[in-house]
Amino acid sequence: MRKLIAGTGWKMNIGAAEAARYAARLLSCLDAASRDLLDLFVLPPFTSLHAAHAAFLSSPVGIGAQNMHWEASGAWTGEISAAMLAEAGCKYVELAHSERLQHFGETYEFVRRKLNAAMDSRLTPILCLGETRQDKSLGRADDVLAEQIGIALADQSASSLPAIMLAYEPRWAIGAANAAPPDYVAERHRALRSVVRQRYGAQAAGDVRIIYGGSVTPGNSEALMDHPDVDGLFVGRAAWSPEGFAEIAAIVARAAMKRKLS
Ligand code: PEP
Repeated sequence: MRKLIAGTGWKMNIGAAEAARYAARLLSCLDAASRDLLDLFVLPPFTSLHAAHAAFLSSPVGIGAQNMHWEASGAWTGEISAAMLAEAGCKYVELAHSERLQHFGETYEFVRRKLNAAMDSRLTPILCLGETRQDKSLGRADDVLAEQIGIALADQSASSLPAIMLAYEPRWAIGAANAAPPDYVAERHRALRSVVRQRYGAQAAGDVRIIYGGSVTPGNSEALMDHPDVDGLFVGRAAWSPEGFAEIAAIVARAAMKRKLS
C-alpha cells in the first residue's frame, strides 16, 4: 500500500525566524495519525532551509527546496546544486512548478537534467505536471501530462519510480479560487498512472505516488482524498499557517486509515 503524503511549498514567504516559529507550532499541532501514517514535507525558501532543518530535526517532517541547478558546481551565479541541498538537510526538491515554467523560462528538458542530478544526490524529486487552461479547453490535458512525463523521466528506469513523487498541479488551479473538481483530478491521476504503466510496467505504476496540488483547503481535502489514485495533497496558501497544514494533514491521515481498513 502506498504511503500517503501531505506537503507544502512556501514559495517566497516565511523567512528564517518565522520558519522556526512555524515549525514549533506545526510540531505542536500535528496529530498522532499524521505523524505515524504520512510522509510530511515543507519546502521553505533557500534562506530558511537552515532554520527549518534545525527546527524539524528528529521530527516526522522532512524539508526540501523549491528549485535547484542541474550541475554539481561551477560558474552558475546565483544557483544551488543538489549536493548543496542535501548538505543543508533537504530530503526533497520540487521541480517544474508552474511559476518556474511561467516566469523563469524553465522547460521540461531542463527539468529532466535537474531530476537526474537530484536522483544522483538521493533527493526525492517532487515533479510537478499539469496542463494550462488552454490545454484543458482543447481536451489535451492527458496528452500534455504524458509529454511532460516522457521528457522529465526519459533517463529513469522502472526501479527509480518509487523514489520520485509526481505532483499533478493543473496550472489553471494554482493560486485560484477553487481546486480542480475531485472527479477531474481522479481522471488525471488515473491517466498519469496509466502512462507510468505503459512506460515502466505495472509494478512501477502501482508504487509511484501521485499527489494533487492547486487551491487545496481543509474544506476540499476530504473529497480530493476520496479517490484511490490520489496519494496525498500538495498545498500552497492553505498551509502557510501551521494550523492549516496540520488540519489538512489530519484529513489525509484519516484517508490513510480508511484505505488501510478497506
Ligand atoms: C502551488 O503553488 O503549488 C499551490 C498548490 O498553491 P495553492 O495551494 O495556493 O493553489
